[in-house]
Amino acid sequence: MAASRSGFTYRVETEVPPGYIVACGGRSVETKNKANTITFVFESYKPTWRIDIAAARFKMIEDEGPKIRVFAIPEDEGEGRRILEAAQKSFRFYSGLFGEAGDFPGYTIIEVPEGWGSQASDFYVLQTAAAFRDKGRTSELYHEIAHNWNVRAKPAIQRCRYFDEAFASYFQGLAIREFEGEEAFEKYMTRLRDRFLQSCERDEENGSTPIAEYWREERGENSYTKGAWSLFVLHQVVGDSVLRSLVSGFLREFRTREADFESFQGFAEKAAGMNLDRFFKEWIFGAESSRLLREKLDAGKIAERYR
Ligand SMILES: [Zn+2]
Repeated sequence: MAASRSGFTYRVETEVPPGYIVACGGRSVETKNKANTITFVFESYKPTWRIDIAAARFKMIEDEGPKIRVFAIPEDEGEGRRILEAAQKSFRFYSGLFGEAGDFPGYTIIEVPEGWGSQASDFYVLQTAAAFRDKGRTSELYHEIAHNWNVRAKPAIQRCRYFDEAFASYFQGLAIREFEGEEAFEKYMTRLRDRFLQSCERDEENGSTPIAEYWREERGENSYTKGAWSLFVLHQVVGDSVLRSLVSGFLREFRTREADFESFQGFAEKAAGMNLDRFFKEWIFGAESSRLLREKLDAGKIAERYR
């Protein structure tokens, strides 16, 4: 392991009896066969904060295209195929909308027994058996795949979770609309709004804290809900084609730089050819937007304020 400021890198060798397959979130480097054992070797893709290794009599299902691999327990092989297809189609959908994923090394989905808890890190997810089998939860995979179209945020505001979770949560919604229809999309967005309103009931500062200040008291959880809504409203303000060019241009521009809210506003205004000051004041740098969500106005109605 080599430690660095932003995590560590690793190389792990796991020796198992024949018939077992080892799954890991890292890059598969080699497999060494001995008389009575097999050793699977993995390395991290990039500095990370965790290592996950699972050994079982997995069925491995993979494709040659976007390098997506699914490790399913044997009785769930059919589910594994369904999941691979869902991951592939969401991958193709986002590529079509926003361009190729940056340095996409592949994506791994590993089924684990019930009760172990689902976990995710860069380029992989561990899913408990119930989640793995539940078709209603396929859209969580759309979310994980969407993270490949995220820009990096400046460290000072990274814990707002806006540039990763708000974007992935809204992109998940777009994939739901594409694959399950308008009604499913509306249900999903309503659920996110309700979750945000519940979080305000628990602690009203979730409603009064601007998104740009979420990092101060670890309120980034609201980026999954209100953050996604901010992008939903912005989408209504600028329309489909501007949203696409905005996101793809923002990704290109910030592939090697770190973004913050000011640069996002500048970029959005340039892409839209509009002054978006009021939108950013109410949704990002201020919290007037919480009232709009509390009043349950629909996104189209809210967008009228900013045109
Ligand atoms: Zn996420």
